Amino acid sequence: MVTLDRLRTLSARVGADPLLVQAAGGNTSLKDEGVMWIKASGTWLKDARSRDIFVPIDQASLVDALVRHDPAADACLPFVRADLNSTGLRPSIETSVHALMPHRIVVHVHCVNTIAWAIRDDAEARLADRLREFAWAFVPYARPGLPLAEAIAARQRRGVDVLVLGNHGLVVGADTVVAAEALLERVVSAVTRPAREAVPPDRHALEALCAGTPYTPAASDDTHALATDALALERGRACVYYPDHVVFLGVGVATDMGSGAPLVAVPGKGVLVRTDARPAVEAMGRCLADVMRRVGPDDPLVALTSEEIDRLVNWDAEKYRQGLTHPSGPSTGRSSRAPRTA
Ligand SMILES: [Zn+2]
Repeated sequence: MVTLDRLRTLSARVGADPLLVQAAGGNTSLKDEGVMWIKASGTWLKDARSRDIFVPIDQASLVDALVRHDPAADACLPFVRADLNSTGLRPSIETSVHALMPHRIVVHVHCVNTIAWAIRDDAEARLADRLREFAWAFVPYARPGLPLAEAIAARQRRGVDVLVLGNHGLVVGADTVVAAEALLERVVSAVTRPAREAVPPDRHALEALCAGTPYTPAASDDTHALATDALALERGRACVYYPDHVVFLGVGVATDMGSGAPLVAVPGKGVLVRTDARPAVEAMGRCLADVMRRVGPDDPLVALTSEEIDRLVNWDAEKYRQGLTHPSGPSTGRSSRAPRTA
């Protein structure tokens, strides 16, 4: 199918941009003759050209289930077209988001510039000015799956092709891959915020700290900015602002290697990552740095609550994604630290 091939190309391009997608986050879809092809749970968009990452869904049955608030629509498993599913993978945990958009092509990204607005308690009002040229809707935070689908349904209006998901990300829909990419670029351009420059790490000090430990300095200076930008660490260290952070890093940011956390920010020096950490860990550390370098000292940020974090990390579909992303599954005590106050 030519269009799916074009979507693979766009997916790989979007997935390779850390300001749009980090690790297995984000997803794309195509609706064609009653089948919705959606990125598989736990797979990375950047791999869209090198492996088959799309799962076929019976679109009408899923939409019908969503309308009836059927719990089966939470993880969408019953709606996979097994006869067409050559990989045997499960659909994205955000499949219902795509099903609710009427457009043939839907792209959902964890756009850093969008998130830097979407984590504010005045996000909707501030974005109203920046997005006045667009047919858009703001959707308050809800856990992915059925709760997010219901939150979208409550805000969706005829003609809306841009959704900003509170404490989460961005969704655009269009009838062609070219139009979807163009719309994504226009929205990202409209919401782009200036970022403070990344202060380089003290690599010598970090190497000394790592000696004899299971840690190594992060690869990217953009990740190190989480620890070298004092404001980024101050505002980002104690809370969870969007789902994938807590899923991959636990609550907040560890600053002590004794914690055993997968990622440790050493204030003023840089970021350390465990040598056995999954690749998503540094990607998530960089994401938080990228978001927080776009946040000012007085921005009214709103974090996920302890209850919201609990509902997220104890969701079976999310546990599956974790297991798929990392063969040994979620680790105890490191990536799944017990939530503290958010
Ligand atoms: Zn998402």
